[in-house]
Amino acid sequence: MESLPKSGLYYPNNLARITLLALEDVMGTNGVNALLNLANHRELIGNFPPDNMEAQFDFADLSGIIGSLDDMYGARGSRVLALRAGIATFDETLKNIGEAVDVKDESFVAMPIVEKMRVGLSLVGITFTQSTKNIPTISEDDSHFIYSVAYCPICWGRTTAEPSCHILTGLLKGALKWVTQGTEFNVSQNTAHSCGAPTCDFIIPKEPAS
Ligand SMILES: [Zn+2]
Repeated sequence: MESLPKSGLYYPNNLARITLLALEDVMGTNGVNALLNLANHRELIGNFPPDNMEAQFDFADLSGIIGSLDDMYGARGSRVLALRAGIATFDETLKNIGEAVDVKDESFVAMPIVEKMRVGLSLVGITFTQSTKNIPTISEDDSHFIYSVAYCPICWGRTTAEPSCHILTGLLKGALKWVTQGTEFNVSQNTAHSCGAPTCDFIIPKEPAS
């Protein structure tokens, strides 16, 4: 796809790096090289961002790469790859950043599952706030959490037919699975910037997936 105008908002280098490594894992080196070529980011071929938390990777660049993933694989194929990349991003980076939380500690294990979910979601939120000055809001009612992102690095500057910030869906799924020691939740996205909404909203049922 065409390059998007720069946003002036930045994603941490290592989250961008892990996203590209995870995509390389599922698409192969040739696949990810073709993707970066299509996205007009040849400078990243064999030269992924450095492994540090400096916020230097423009949202527009990440969004453009994900847009090209849609172009290459279609919405459905792209969704599968991006979800896997999102889960891997959590597993490889945020989990370590959140090492202040010992999910195997007795007192943590004994907590109600909804309490653990609150910890997991706020862990993702805190990491993004620190690294991108982008503050997600987390609200809840009796049956669901809503994780809401005002400045989204995944769909920045693009228009999509449906909400499709699957990397973030994957990140949230990964976080919830980790804090609950393996429980799966059906995280879904119901609004997106790329569909004209003011925020990208993710809905998380408090009941685990059956
Ligand atoms: Zn988005």
